[in-house]
Amino acid sequence: MTADTSRPALLGGESIRPLGPPDWPLGDEAVLDALREAYADGSWGRYQGGRVARLEQHLAEMHGVEHVLTCGSGTFAVELALRACKIGAGDEVVMAAYDYGGNFLSVHAVGARPVLVDVDADNWNLAPENLAAAIGSATRAILVSHLHGGLVPMREVVELAARHGISVIEDAAQTPGARIEGKQAGTWGDVGVLSFGGSKLLTAGRGGALMTRNAAAAQRARLHLQRGNHICPLSELQAAVLMPQLNRLAHHNARRLHAAQQLAQLLHGATGMTPFRNRPMQESMPVYYKMGFQYDAEAFGIGRERFVAALRAEGIALDEGFRALHVERSPQRWRGVAPLTEAERAHNGTVVLHHPVLLGDDEALAQVAQAVQKIRLQAPLLR
Ligand SMILES: *Cc1c(COP(=O)(O)O)cnc(C)c1O
Repeated sequence: MTADTSRPALLGGESIRPLGPPDWPLGDEAVLDALREAYADGSWGRYQGGRVARLEQHLAEMHGVEHVLTCGSGTFAVELALRACKIGAGDEVVMAAYDYGGNFLSVHAVGARPVLVDVDADNWNLAPENLAAAIGSATRAILVSHLHGGLVPMREVVELAARHGISVIEDAAQTPGARIEGKQAGTWGDVGVLSFGGSKLLTAGRGGALMTRNAAAAQRARLHLQRGNHICPLSELQAAVLMPQLNRLAHHNARRLHAAQQLAQLLHGATGMTPFRNRPMQESMPVYYKMGFQYDAEAFGIGRERFVAALRAEGIALDEGFRALHVERSPQRWRGVAPLTEAERAHNGTVVLHHPVLLGDDEALAQVAQAVQKIRLQAPLLR
């Protein structure tokens, strides 16, 4: 690749991808067919047309769990999962200090209190070795998310939870179809969660699901959803468009993984922008909703905000990561146990690449690396 020394698009130069990042969702004939079928059989306008039930069945088979309940969003599914595990007032839930903000609020929504632990130095996902010190007499559950291509070693999490007699809720909203030591993400804990939000790998614009092998937990979740009627359902139309996506998920996941590895290669040695690295685990496969990077502003030569703005101007869908919970939320609303050093680094240093480009062609991928390179070379102009 020849070095691009042209002017950054942010400063009025030519953009590397003038049309911007690839769209999501992708055009998909199978989705169109599913919509036509839902129209033809009238299920589009029914409370119950069989499609939601079939989707739940399909998800259950795919994950090897007995019970799948769909609902209106992944965020709501997390709250439901907490209720399914009987988490309530006065209870504590241990979670990573760097996590999806909605999860923190869901813990509060059921009346419980988050206990924040530090994250892994290499992938800024929950680090199991930090859990033990956080577990106290009020702890009832551990809430784990797999984020930005990171995988949390779930075996350690569930073993520790079992020793303490507490529940595990596994948020696989970003990782449908990922594998961790031979098991699917979302099936390690007592209850797992999926999202079908508009940016997610399986999308119906909105929607979520809860998965469990535990009949009593499923029943508690069902009772919460049923108040004379299903209070926060997935619709038949949403179920219709999800089904063909499920059939392609493994294939798309494999392509995205390959692209992420290729991109890591292309960026190799790019100081200041290191892809999240997972611990070596047997029979594991990460899934990329966002591809996470540890951004080092000092090494790169410009602040993160400026870097992200510069990449976006080049037509690359790069964003800052989440704001860490211990920074974002009042200290009265959580308990912390140890220094949250890595979570602090994650707060300041996470950048994420949105997934659609990972299904693009080689050129689209090369443009990402080219744009990073260009901004690195032009960093002095952007300071
Ligand atoms: C998107 C997301 C959710 C919530 O899903 P919605 O369906 O958008 O409410 C939960 N957890 C994680 C980690 C997510 O990325």
